[in-house]
Amino acid sequence: MQEVVSADYPFRVRSQADAALLAEYRKRLAGSYAPFVVLLALLFGYLCRHFLKYQFSLAAGIRRGMRRGEFQVHYQPVIDLRDGSCAGAEALMRWFRPGQGPVRPDIFFAVAEANGLSIPLTRHLFKLVGRDLRHCPMGPQFRLGLNITAGHFARPDIVDDVARLRQVVGSGAADFVLEITEREPLPPIDQVYENMGVLNASGVKLAIDDFGTGHSSLAYLEKFPVDYLKIDRGFVSAIGTDAVNASVLEMIIGLAARLDVELTAEGVETREQLDYLAAKGVHYAQGFLYAKPMPIEQLQAWVREHRGRLPAGGAATDSVPAVA
Ligand code: C2E
Ligand code: CA
Ligand code: CA
Repeated sequence: MQEVVSADYPFRVRSQADAALLAEYRKRLAGSYAPFVVLLALLFGYLCRHFLKYQFSLAAGIRRGMRRGEFQVHYQPVIDLRDGSCAGAEALMRWFRPGQGPVRPDIFFAVAEANGLSIPLTRHLFKLVGRDLRHCPMGPQFRLGLNITAGHFARPDIVDDVARLRQVVGSGAADFVLEITEREPLPPIDQVYENMGVLNASGVKLAIDDFGTGHSSLAYLEKFPVDYLKIDRGFVSAIGTDAVNASVLEMIIGLAARLDVELTAEGVETREQLDYLAAKGVHYAQGFLYAKPMPIEQLQAWVREHRGRLPAGGAATDSVPAVA
């Protein structure tokens, strides 16, 4: 006979089952579950192997893709909400694998990062952007956002990488803004401060990307002064639907005003979002409401076609352009 007594409640459970019977029951239970456990372990092993093989083949594919010219850059316009002009664009990498179609950039950048390829891939991006801008210069006031990892920004060679790009495109092709995601905080090391100083002195701006999703605090922003904060798409899509995230958005807007930093809203998809952001004093917006990312020749034509005709804050200056 077995007895279990509760320490917290006035209960005791007594079992009068025969110990031999219980042992027999446990044995039978283990026997009937064992095949499932083995199967589950096999399935887990197969999935792990499949995942690692996929990762390795994707990493090898990235190396090969850079050699074979499978990567391209698309550019998404950024609009100044104060006057409806196109203030610049964000460069976004695209990978079209032959026979397999497009691969999502967040997927291949994660694989590149895990396999020590994010810096070679960013250098490849700089090479492609350099080629695009030589072919289609956008103008000296045109601010082009380039996504950089925090790890790359903390190295001494980022300064040379940017200087090389600027030398390739020449003066007047575009101004550059380095976007560093907030999900990966910058390390507070001397090299980071030194790079910030050199890049800032040469006119290169700095933005914190995906703002509101990571670790930034007021102290972090005071330690690393930046020129722009990019409000994450999640907060923009909350406008008019999600009260909690909308109040976080208001806090971000207040923080930017306090720090005297300009704000860019990402993922603006509706006129309602645009009006809300403009009324709150957000300076720039990008999103499918205006345009999807596109090749550089199309961007040049798009900027020419929509000059002074894009919807800004308050009264609409014109209808929203049709997005392909
Ligand atoms: P991100 O830097 O936050 O880029 C913005 C993403 O939002 C882009 O996705 C863009 O196409 C998308 N987007 C813009 N407007 C809208 C909108 O109105 N609605 C919706 N639903 N989406 C919108 P994309 O091009 O797929 O890039 C995803 C992420 O991959 C980027 O997020 C960035 O983290 C990474 N990535 C892309 N290109 C590069 C690159 O050249 N270097 C690095 N390090 N990362 C890159
Ligand atoms: Ca970005
Ligand atoms: Ca972003």
